[in-house]
Amino acid sequence: MEAMKLDRSIQLQRQAERFLPGGVDSPVRAFRAVGGTPRWIERGDGAYLWDADGNRYLDFIGSWGAMLLGHADPQVTAAVRAAAADGSSFGLSTPGELALARRAAAANPAVEMIRFVNSGTEATMSALRLARGFTGREVVVKFAGGYHGHADLLLAEAGSGVATLGLASCAGVAAGAVAATLVLPYNDLAAAESAFGERGGEIAAVIVEPVAGNMGCVPPEPGYLAALRRLTAVAGAVLILDEVMTGFRLAFGGATERFGLEADLWTYGKVLGGGLPIGAYGGRAEIMRQVSPLGPVYQAGTLAGNPLAMAAGLATLDRLQQDAEGYARAERWTADFAAGLGEQARRAGVPLTVQAEGSMFTAFFTDQPVRNFAAAQRCDTAAFAAFHRALLEEGVLLPPAQFEAAFVSWRHGAAELELALRATGKALASLGPGI
Ligand SMILES: *Cc1c(COP(=O)(O)O)cnc(C)c1O
Repeated sequence: MEAMKLDRSIQLQRQAERFLPGGVDSPVRAFRAVGGTPRWIERGDGAYLWDADGNRYLDFIGSWGAMLLGHADPQVTAAVRAAAADGSSFGLSTPGELALARRAAAANPAVEMIRFVNSGTEATMSALRLARGFTGREVVVKFAGGYHGHADLLLAEAGSGVATLGLASCAGVAAGAVAATLVLPYNDLAAAESAFGERGGEIAAVIVEPVAGNMGCVPPEPGYLAALRRLTAVAGAVLILDEVMTGFRLAFGGATERFGLEADLWTYGKVLGGGLPIGAYGGRAEIMRQVSPLGPVYQAGTLAGNPLAMAAGLATLDRLQQDAEGYARAERWTADFAAGLGEQARRAGVPLTVQAEGSMFTAFFTDQPVRNFAAAQRCDTAAFAAFHRALLEEGVLLPPAQFEAAFVSWRHGAAELELALRATGKALASLGPGI
C-alpha cells in the first residue's frame, strides 16, 4: 500500500525538538514506545482527528479520556465561545463554579464539598495533602502501575508514561518525598491486609484508580475496592478514589456509581472539563472543611475554577445527561469491538487479551489475563508497537503505548466499528502468528 504522507508532521516534530524537550509537552506524545512519526494534530470532529498533512484517523486517545463526547461537540464549543466573549479569567468567584459544584455533587452525593483546580495532578496532590492534614499521619498507599499525575510523592512505580519510559523512579524526586509512600500490588487483597496489619496506624490515605487505566485497562476484582474501604475505615485512614479517568466516563457517577463504591475523597479531571484544563477534589464535608480558608491545609490557584473550563464542564455534563442511551451505547460499542478484535486475534494466532470496562479498553499482547502491573509488564511491547504502527497506516489511532487505556467516544458509531475492525484485521494479519 501507498505510505501515508507525513511531511508536515515530520517537519513540525523536527522543529519542535529544538524548542520543546522531545518536541512535546507530555512524554507519550513523542511515540517513543511505538516508533514511527509523532502525529501533529490540526483538527478534531466527533470520533476523528486530522493531522497536519490532512490524514484522517479514527481516534482512540480521546485526549487521554477527556473527550467522551467526541471532538468539537457543537454545544460545548458554543458554551466556551460564549464564556470567552465575557472574559476568560477574573481571579474572583464566578457563578459557573457554584453551578458545576452542584452538578458534581448531584453525580456523586458523597461529594458534599468540592474544590476546583487546573489538572488531575493538582487534584490528587491536594487530596493527599488534605488527607495527611486531616489524619495527622504521613504514610500514603498507592498501587504499582497506578498513575495519579506527577506530584513527587506519587512518582514511585507509577504507570502511564512513567511505565512506558521504563522509569522505576523519577530523577529529581528527593528520597524524602517518597519515603512515606508505600507501593502495593493492585488487586491483591492479602498484600493490603498485611500492610494495614503492620502499619495501619501510620497510614493517612490509600489512593486508588477504581478501574486501573494507566497500566492499560485493568478492572478491579469483585469485592476488592469494598475491602479497601473496610481496611481504611477500621484504621482511620482516608480512602481516595482517583476518578480523574473514570469519573463521568464509566457512568455519570463514575466508577462510584457503576460499582456502588464508598470512600472519603474523590478526585476528578478529564471528562469533567470537556477538553479544557480542569481537576477537582471533594468528598466528606468534615474533611473538606480542613482546606483553606476554612482550615489549615493550604491550597490555591490563580486560574482555579476558570470560567471557560466551568462552561465547558457544564455543557459537557448537560450533553451527557441529555442522551439517556449514551453510556450504554458506548459500552456496547466497546464490547463489540473487543469481542471482534479478540476473535480476529484467535484466528490469526496472535496471543492477545482484550480487557474492557465501560468505554475503556486495552489490547494486551499476552495470552494471560492482566490483573496487575507485573502481568502488564510481561506483555510483548514490541508486538504492540508493530500493531500500533500498522493501525496508524490504516487510519486508526490507538494510544501510543501498551500501558494505556484506549477510549471510545459517544461519536463512535456503526461505520466506525466497521472501519476499526477492518483495520485491526489487516494489522493482525501483517504481524503474523506466534509473535
Ligand atoms: C490523567 C490522570 C491523572 C492526572 O491528570 P492530569 O490532568 O494529566 O494532571 C491523575 N489520575 C488519573 C487516574 C489519571 O488518569
